[in-house]
Amino acid sequence: MAYQRPGQGGGLSNRSTDSSGPSPKGGTRVLRLSVTDRCDLRCRYCLPAGAVPFAPQAELLGTAALVNAVAWLVRQCAVDRLKITGGEPLTFRGIVELVERAAALPGIREISMTTNGTRLAELAAALRGAGLARVNVSLDTLDERRFAELTRGGDLRRTLAGIAAARAAGLAPIKLNSVLRRSAWRKDVPALLDFAAGEGFEIRFIELMRTGTEVAWADAELVVAGEVRSSLERTGRLQPLPSVGPARRTLASWRGRDMVVGWITPVSEAFCGTCDRLRLDARGVLRRCLMDPESVPLVEMLRSGTSEAVRETVGRYLAAKVPPAAMDTPRPMRGIGG
Ligand code: SAM
Repeated sequence: MAYQRPGQGGGLSNRSTDSSGPSPKGGTRVLRLSVTDRCDLRCRYCLPAGAVPFAPQAELLGTAALVNAVAWLVRQCAVDRLKITGGEPLTFRGIVELVERAAALPGIREISMTTNGTRLAELAAALRGAGLARVNVSLDTLDERRFAELTRGGDLRRTLAGIAAARAAGLAPIKLNSVLRRSAWRKDVPALLDFAAGEGFEIRFIELMRTGTEVAWADAELVVAGEVRSSLERTGRLQPLPSVGPARRTLASWRGRDMVVGWITPVSEAFCGTCDRLRLDARGVLRRCLMDPESVPLVEMLRSGTSEAVRETVGRYLAAKVPPAAMDTPRPMRGIGG
């Protein structure tokens, strides 16, 4: 059975590599599950201004198929943590049921979610009850006008109400994800640090990637994390902390408060060496990386192949992982799951 290369269908191939099997040596994996490519915001770095080429609804998987695929990856690939993402995962009808069913899978240790927070005010308590442990909320600015501009019409107050609801529901820890932009970071970063420090949240600053839309804008708006870090170091202490996952964590002293600030640096300093995350998109396609030019149509294969053949294909695919040639992909993150 086969890898799927860009522009290729889901055919079969016999490519052989030394396979160490689908499980990481001695460790466990995080699966990032994109439950939908739809989103209720139109962030400039993620979605085009006009009509969005979303996948046909018929190609997107429902709750049962997604949970089956997760169960297979838990059994076969040592996945023990699930991060639900999208698109906007809270626009997925049945998200609470999906969390509940995934939480019931033997072997799942933690379920978290990356969300823009717009629907957390309605859903946080139910999600917590279903087994969601924590959320990362995307929040690039605390300025209502810049928020509306960047998200093309989003309402900052909804995201802030969502964050408050997540806290009230006991989703913890809450982490904020903020994409850095050259035109605004000098205003946004201090305000976001004030907010995160005041609420006791960890905040992670993310370098802007060119993932498909508005490439010239993304180039002009890129500010690397080192520049922002240096500026913070001029005003206070920034001490490295042990890091797991993509963020390099630091302990910052910000206006008299200690807080954790993470730096996600796909552009200036790739973190591929330590990454063994898996990604499954809303059509059931498996990837080793956001930038992966190859993929495995896992759900399609599970429908048509024997479990052993699928296991072998996935094992070869994972064993053949190499760092991407560039942290650049024409595919926006809403499709793959950011
Ligand atoms: N809708 C959810 C959210 O807003 O968190 C989940 C999906 S979103 C694609 C996941 C994360 O990817 C967000 O924090 C978003 O800011 C980030 N992201 C999307 N496109 C990006 C880009 N071009 N560069 C850097 N981060 C990006």
